[in-house]
Amino acid sequence: MTNTLLIKNGHIVDPAQKLDQKADILIENGKISKIGKSLPPPSKAKIIDAKGKIVSPGFIDIHVHLREPGREDKETLRTASKAAAKGGITTVVGMPNTNPIADNQTVIEFVLSKAKRESLINIQACGSITKGEKGQEIAEIWEMKQSGAIAVSDDGFDIQNLDVYRKALQYCKTHDMPIISHTEDVNLAKDGQMHEGTVSTLLGLKGIPACAEDAATARIITLVEDVDHRMHFTHVSSKGAIDMIKLAQHKHLPVTADTTPHHFSLTDEAVANYDTNAKVNPPLRSEDHRQAILKGLKDGTLSCIVTDHAPHLWTEKQREFQSAPAGIVGFETMLSLIITNLVNTKVLTLSEAIAKITINPAKTLSLPDIGTLKPGSRADITIFDPKATWTVDKTKFESKGMNTPFHGMKLYGVVTDTFVKGKQVLQNGKICSTT
Ligand SMILES: [Zn+2]
Repeated sequence: MTNTLLIKNGHIVDPAQKLDQKADILIENGKISKIGKSLPPPSKAKIIDAKGKIVSPGFIDIHVHLREPGREDKETLRTASKAAAKGGITTVVGMPNTNPIADNQTVIEFVLSKAKRESLINIQACGSITKGEKGQEIAEIWEMKQSGAIAVSDDGFDIQNLDVYRKALQYCKTHDMPIISHTEDVNLAKDGQMHEGTVSTLLGLKGIPACAEDAATARIITLVEDVDHRMHFTHVSSKGAIDMIKLAQHKHLPVTADTTPHHFSLTDEAVANYDTNAKVNPPLRSEDHRQAILKGLKDGTLSCIVTDHAPHLWTEKQREFQSAPAGIVGFETMLSLIITNLVNTKVLTLSEAIAKITINPAKTLSLPDIGTLKPGSRADITIFDPKATWTVDKTKFESKGMNTPFHGMKLYGVVTDTFVKGKQVLQNGKICSTT
């Protein structure tokens, strides 16, 4: 098998190097070797023609639910990795709310070693902040870091006891462990089914007020200011939270944030017919919040985009709204939602958009060697056609989950080829059979 690859005639967009031009890329032994115009093909090199397409660093998604261990009926590391490869995503960070919860070395080691054997892409693990994500006792954070966990989060919940949270921040600062915050006041959000507003009133569903996210954001920023350790706010959905994060960044606090494709694409109107596929936490909010998200993406307050890929069983989403689980699958629609709803609408340039799924998340969690096509970096590469269109068909997903509110929508942007460490895992939109 050849381990030299030449990607020719593509348009390279690599925000980390401020590259936005036609060029060729040479890959040798799993690493980027050279970028230049009309590179001569070395003997025995495999040639890929990327004419008319964008060549980008492989996408990085730092907030996903892989469901293994515990819910292999919803997704496995293998099926998740196929879905990610299909979406051009070459690195994901799995959240710890599996069964059992990843609050100790054993679970982290299980996930990472199984991923090494079965995954087509690079899977990273995030441990929990507290034992069992119960918000009471700090988990084995240092031990999990030794086993390869790259961050901690109590995703799905938020630590309500600020004394516990402050100690966790101090502990993580000592061990230089990034924290990802799912930000929610549980009392204000209790039993809520969707965003609190006109639509929730019309539907007669209990709402989650935006202040549940705003209040929790404020108290966490207070702790960040006190401890001075970095905090990454994830799936940010409310205007108030964005305003506070922006203010904290102006004060040079070590605060970063992301949002999701569903939060910048949809509003609570998507729930109007009780569509459980639009049930997600935090909830899809009203148009004024969506506009604040677009502004936050444009001005950089929200530096990353994550899918919060959350596969559920069809039978679970068939339940009545109140008892259906929250979550949307996101890998296979991420790029298209970014192209259709951010780039084609001129909210972001293509380069600004790609930064939010490549170099920015790599920097946020200090992931080395990825997120750029700089010579010497790992050859994780995504090739896509931004002008091509397709209609979302959930029955054709590589993911086991079909819970998407985007089924049937016509979107722009098709990923054609994905490479991980120089190895092709997606070719012309199909998972490579040898992987
Ligand atoms: Zn969450």
